[in-house]
Amino acid sequence: MIEQKINEFFGDAESTGFGTGWWSGILSAFFGFLSFGAVLCLHFPQLLTSPELRPHYPMHIMRVLIQCLIVGAILFGIIASILRKKKILALTGTLFAIAATALGGSSVRINPNLGNGPAIGMDWFLLDMLLMAIIYVPLERLWPQYPEQGTFRNEWTLDVVYFMSTHFPIQVLSFLVLLPATQAVKYLGVPVLQHLIAHIPWLFQFLLAIVVADVAEYFIHLALHKVPFLWRFHAVHHSSKALDWIAGSRSHFVDDTLVRGFILVPLMLGFSQSIIFAYLIFVTLHATWTHCNFGPNAKWLEQFLVMPRYHHWHHTSQKEGIDKNFAIHFPWIDKLFGTYYYPDEWPQRYGLDGEEIARGFVGQTIAPFTKRKRTS
Ligand SMILES: [Zn+2]
Ligand SMILES: [Zn+2]
Repeated sequence: MIEQKINEFFGDAESTGFGTGWWSGILSAFFGFLSFGAVLCLHFPQLLTSPELRPHYPMHIMRVLIQCLIVGAILFGIIASILRKKKILALTGTLFAIAATALGGSSVRINPNLGNGPAIGMDWFLLDMLLMAIIYVPLERLWPQYPEQGTFRNEWTLDVVYFMSTHFPIQVLSFLVLLPATQAVKYLGVPVLQHLIAHIPWLFQFLLAIVVADVAEYFIHLALHKVPFLWRFHAVHHSSKALDWIAGSRSHFVDDTLVRGFILVPLMLGFSQSIIFAYLIFVTLHATWTHCNFGPNAKWLEQFLVMPRYHHWHHTSQKEGIDKNFAIHFPWIDKLFGTYYYPDEWPQRYGLDGEEIARGFVGQTIAPFTKRKRTS
């Protein structure tokens, strides 16, 4: 399996604590990989970058960012090679950075005449990976609920593959494909509704959009659990035995497409493109957040807003938490429909309740279409 190979490749037996060169090695490899990918994007924008994002890049800043990634990869590579006996991470990062520099680094000229042909969307994958890792990994390292779990837990590479799959090739599935879909506002929109909503202050429009989206999400999520054929797809998301920021991206593409479609259609009836766009950013950040291995809780806040512990109860394999907490933003939606479960402690176990699914990305993608039974 690919995931296992990558794990063996990077996971050396030396200790991974602070000061052992583990983190500098990881950062070197991560920054090196990102800088190399970014330079490739500069060379082949037509093929690799998303047409929807291209016009919006502040290129000056992007070039500075690429330069920083290259320098960062080399600096952390040096630190790691001093601190650590095994040099594989430092070497990987430094080689990527050298390759990025050899290919022209941050100063590659871009061909200004680009069409709107199909593209892979590597720019979005790299940017989102960088952003999410910068936001969530430090939070999980500083205040973890399960400190022994670690960032590179069992099956983390499987979830990186899922993260890639939703950003990479089959654009029909990604966030960005839904961006042009927001154009459909023109056709789906109900003028009276649009007119009414447009007169509310922006912030309240935004809050209303989150409520509408979460009610829609509630019902499709409920169906994903209760309809056996749909559960086969959603079971993939529930197969994680340890939750963190990247576990949230483990999701079958049928599951993803259904949920996004169900959320977007009601939004398009009455909300403007700017609200829908703001909601897409919000849901990406919040949904990722609810999967985080993050311990602290604010009592006053968790009454209004889904916090990690709330969604963790949705992922438990303990009987009392099964088919509870379907809402993704507001706990009171579950209260309203009688599916609220929120004791004061954290769950003890996660994953599927006595059910086995295929291992690995390819198996999990194909199996739901072919297998017939749901054992529980
Ligand atoms: Zn679920
Ligand atoms: Zn989840």
